[in-house]
Amino acid sequence: MNALMRILSGDQSCFGGPVLDEHDAARARADQINALCRYTRGMMVVNIVSAIVFITAGMQTGQAEAAVSWGFVVIVYAAFVYLKATRPRAAVTQMSERTIRRAVRNAFVLGSLWALLPIFFFDSGSTALQLLIICVCTGFLCGGAFVLASIPIAAIAFMLPIVGALAFVFLGRADPMDMLVAILMFMYLFVLVRAVVSHGHEMLDRLAGKYSAQREAKEDSLTKLPNRAALRVVIDEASARLDRFGDPFAVFYLDLDKFKSVNDDFGHFAGDQLLVQVAERLSACVRDVDSVARIGGDEFAIVCVGVCSPKAAMVLAERILKAFAVPFIVEGTRRVNATSIGIALAPSDGRSAETLLRKADAALYRAKREGRGTFCFFEEADDTLVSNRRAIERDLRNAIGTDAVYLEFQPFLSLDSDRIAGFEALVRWNHPERGLIGPATFIPIAEDAGLMQELGEHILATACREAATWPSTMRLAVNFSVVQFRSEAISGVILKLLEQNGLAPERLEIEITESIFLAQAERAVEILEHLSSLGIQISLDDFGTGYSSLTSLRKLPLNRLKIDRSFVNEVTTDPECACIVRSVLGLAANMNISVTAEGVETPEQLAFLRMNHCEEVQGYLIGRPLSASVARNLAEHAGLVHCAA
Ligand code: C2E
Ligand code: MG
Ligand code: MG
Repeated sequence: MNALMRILSGDQSCFGGPVLDEHDAARARADQINALCRYTRGMMVVNIVSAIVFITAGMQTGQAEAAVSWGFVVIVYAAFVYLKATRPRAAVTQMSERTIRRAVRNAFVLGSLWALLPIFFFDSGSTALQLLIICVCTGFLCGGAFVLASIPIAAIAFMLPIVGALAFVFLGRADPMDMLVAILMFMYLFVLVRAVVSHGHEMLDRLAGKYSAQREAKEDSLTKLPNRAALRVVIDEASARLDRFGDPFAVFYLDLDKFKSVNDDFGHFAGDQLLVQVAERLSACVRDVDSVARIGGDEFAIVCVGVCSPKAAMVLAERILKAFAVPFIVEGTRRVNATSIGIALAPSDGRSAETLLRKADAALYRAKREGRGTFCFFEEADDTLVSNRRAIERDLRNAIGTDAVYLEFQPFLSLDSDRIAGFEALVRWNHPERGLIGPATFIPIAEDAGLMQELGEHILATACREAATWPSTMRLAVNFSVVQFRSEAISGVILKLLEQNGLAPERLEIEITESIFLAQAERAVEILEHLSSLGIQISLDDFGTGYSSLTSLRKLPLNRLKIDRSFVNEVTTDPECACIVRSVLGLAANMNISVTAEGVETPEQLAFLRMNHCEEVQGYLIGRPLSASVARNLAEHAGLVHCAA
């Protein structure tokens, strides 16, 4: 019974057809019925005309009354179906099994009406009428099969009574000719059923393919969450509900902190693992009525409905941050990956998907700047901040490699010899409209925008070219961003540039900061060790400002420490600072690491450093960052330059 119901409901898997899940099956039913509806009215007209033709022919026989009664029933039924089909229908994308069963029943009723023709009129009819009956039955068999082919079981339900009636009539007669006609009929039925069933399978296969392609277009293939396109639809729907019922909602824009370093340190497979876990965790944080989507590499969004105040949105934001405090498991290791969140509220911040996403993104940008692992609500000032940054990013992309991005060189003074020992290359950007932009502003933008490799290579190439013009004793210090050590290719780039410019590895000093440990860059340390083994000098910049200064001394292959200028600044005014600087100098001497004191601005500071056996100093007192030509000139006469102090 169950199997019969399934067959009558159009389940083609009973005949070896494709198996669809319930959602796709409901969509397929709607498409099948829609395909059928396209022919319904034409088919009913054919029924009515055929009935009229038969009534006309039947009037000339002894069964005129029966023919008219039969014809009347067919015409009324067909007219009823025709009128029903002309009624405007709402576009339906899903249909129930009952709808298919109703279509099967209607097909059976219509087929049965035509089956009455051979049963009641064939035996008593003239040869001409018999010919007409056979002609009509064959026509309806083929036409019905074609029109109903989108629902094979309906086509079979239509054909069966007609063939059954023909079989009943022909097999009941002794004439061998009739037998032959009966055989032909069965053969036609067989061919038609085969054709209808295989067409039905093909149609379902095609529909299943279409549904999965549509799903893929709206779904993120890794996390199975809706993608950006689908998210827009969700926001549009929420916005429509806001218009009709006044339901407010919030859009959360999330970006994983330091996701790139997971990819770089553990590989893309590990990055994917993390994203899947993040998707699960976010989905667990929201209610069923809310939607989570993945809208970019490590960017997610949430549409939270019924949020009528910032306080309500705050509850969800705090829940998410709390969920992210639990470590994720990446490649078997536990790892905390916080997320930053930007929130836009509808209707106060806007109604359209575009506006809300843009504003949530702008708020996210501020959340990242305010220390990551936190959330921010959109504020009007965010818009200008983000568009400003975007503009800088775009301009920087175009400026790298041009003269607008250039280097200045700040000298180091050796206190042993009182001579210039070398220069530190400091990058500058002369923006056509904004004027001079300092590295502290644009280096972080280049890092975030993925421009640091290109910019770093441009800086190093320019610096090496310049250093090649200096006396061979002069050291060249170049600042490196930790981002540049994500790829091992950096070693090759450095060595190639040294060779091209004829610089000995010992003349290059790589300046790095302790942020290298924040990025968990084990690989960066390995690369530095390799470069150090080739003779390149490694220097730790801004020493004392990082969170793991002493760890750095242990883990990095260091040749030099640069004491941060915040200590040097107060060395003569703050006894604690003086104490720290003295201790660092002692510690470095014990570890056989050279020291440069940065930011020396006064003769008193220099005198203090000299007295405490600091080997090298750098700062405005000795020299400000200089243009390449002035630095070259200074380098040539370095032997003659003595510090005023
Ligand atoms: P840093 O490497 O510690 O460079 C020293 C900064 O302090 C420079 O600022 C320099 O102009 C400034 N300075 C030097 N002496 C004194 C002084 O006596 N008093 C004061 N008040 N300041 C002094 P700048 O050029 O703005 O660079 C800022 C930071 O930007 C640098 O700090 C470095 O971390 C980064 N940077 C500069 N150039 C590059 C580069 O080519 N690549 C990378 N990755 N970072 C760079
Ligand atoms: Mg530096
Ligand atoms: Mg520094």
